[in-house]
Amino acid sequence: MSRAPLPPRRCAHCKQECTIHGRGLCSPCYHKREVREQYTGKPCFRGEAIAVPTEMDAPVKFPLGSEQMVEVYRRRVASGKVIWNPADGVEDDGD
Ligand SMILES: [Zn+2]
Repeated sequence: MSRAPLPPRRCAHCKQECTIHGRGLCSPCYHKREVREQYTGKPCFRGEAIAVPTEMDAPVKFPLGSEQMVEVYRRRVASGKVIWNPADGVEDDGD
């Protein structure tokens, strides 16, 4: 059994077919700091940068995994908020 050669990839900067070193760049481009900084190491999926939400929604007191909770998660995703609030489902019975 022989390995199929990897399909050629192109450097995101100089567009040459090459071995990708990191951030979609060939080795010479990757080692140029001013070039590398144009291609930040953001998480990518199929070439699209993922926006990571940072805004926290108010915690809710529904049981975790309940239908109400799922609805809350759905609403948070739709509004671009952080899905999991660590205070969710925790009763603060401030006695
Ligand atoms: Zn290059």
